[in-house]
Formats: sequence, C-alpha cells, structure tokens
Amino acid sequence: MDRKLLLATRNQKKKKELQQILNNLDIHIITLDELPDLPEIIEDGATFAQNAIKKAVSTATASGLPCLADDSGLVVDALGGQPGIYSARFAGEDANDNENNQKLLKMMADVKTEKRTARFVCVIAVSDALGEVKTVEGSCAGRIAFEPSGEGGFGYDPLFIPDAYPCSFAELSAEQKNLISHRGKALIKAQAIIRELF
Ligand code: IMP
Repeated sequence: MDRKLLLATRNQKKKKELQQILNNLDIHIITLDELPDLPEIIEDGATFAQNAIKKAVSTATASGLPCLADDSGLVVDALGGQPGIYSARFAGEDANDNENNQKLLKMMADVKTEKRTARFVCVIAVSDALGEVKTVEGSCAGRIAFEPSGEGGFGYDPLFIPDAYPCSFAELSAEQKNLISHRGKALIKAQAIIRELF
C-alpha cells in the first residue's frame, strides 16, 4: 500500500487519538517521528485555522507527502475566549499540562458554576503534497470543573466536563471521548477530504 498520510504533530497523546480515529481508512499513517529532519513550524497564526493551515501546508511541501495537521484548544467564556490558540503555552512557553490547568483554575476561582461554560475547538487542515489545502472544524461544549478529576487523555481533560456528562474528559475511555470530542467530530468530516485526496 503506497497511500501515505503524514500527521504533523509531535504531541504523542494527540497523535494516538488521531491514529485511533483514522485507522478505519485504508491508508498508511506516518508521523513526524519518522521524519525527524523536517523543520519545526512556528505557530504564529491569529486563529486555529491559520495555524492548522500553516502546519499542514509547510509540512506537506517540505516532505512531498499529503499531510494532516490540527490546531486545537480550549475557549473559556468567562475569560473572553482564553486560552484559545495559546492553550498549549497558557502558563508559559515550556508549561506542562498541570501548570496550565493550575493557572486556569486560579483565574476561574471566583467564577460561579453557571458562568463556567467553555468549549474545545479543533480545526483540521489536510494539504496535498503541492500545498492545496482544505479545512474542517469540530467543537465540543462543556464547562470547567472546580478541581481536576480522572487520569486519561491529556491537556485540560481533567478540568473539562462535556455537556450532558457527569464526569470529565479524563474520566472517559478513549473511545467515549473520540465519539463526542472536538477532534473526533473534525476527523469524521476530514475523512471525506482524505478519501478524495487518494
Ligand atoms: P496545539 O498542539 O497547538 O493544537 O495545542 C493544543 C493544546 O490545546 C494542547 O496542548 C492542550 O493544552 C489543549 N487541547 C487540545 N485538545 C485537547 C483535548 O482533547 N483535551 C485537552 N486539552 C486539549
């Protein structure tokens, strides 16, 4: 099989989620781990879409392979949309998930339950080897908990309670999260683009 799709992410947990959802397509998925010499992409766009497009197009044209990139993050209403595109580095350039979560909890300390609404957003860009690109978006609404719970997932999962669920993303199985998550929904839409591409 020579139908290769390159996933442009170095986040191992995100990569696992993307692979789990894409493995029903008859394609060979490779990742940046297998192409370590590709240049690092600076995420300097003003929107999720701009960042996803930049990552997909730069990686596709540099590698000569069709490429899928996602840019995602948490949009919190009480914080005017923060952390948004800065979700990965909310507490600083090298911040880890725990530091980002602690900063979010601190900023939300005085926010009442009914005002703790938020949503995860994911934009996926799929570029062919020449840089022709298409995007799709998925989102998942919920609210921010008062304390972390659960061990699964990554990022802000322990603090995010999806609407109509009694628990956090981090307490769901990978399959349950993929069914309702921003990334899961965007990937369902992206499958049509990937099928067209091949
Ligand atoms: P990106 O790698 O630039 O797209 O940054 C994504 C950041 O948003 C991650 O580092 C997480 O902090 C957050 N994020 C995105 N998707 C999720 C998710 O599914 N669960 C928890 N946090 C997420």
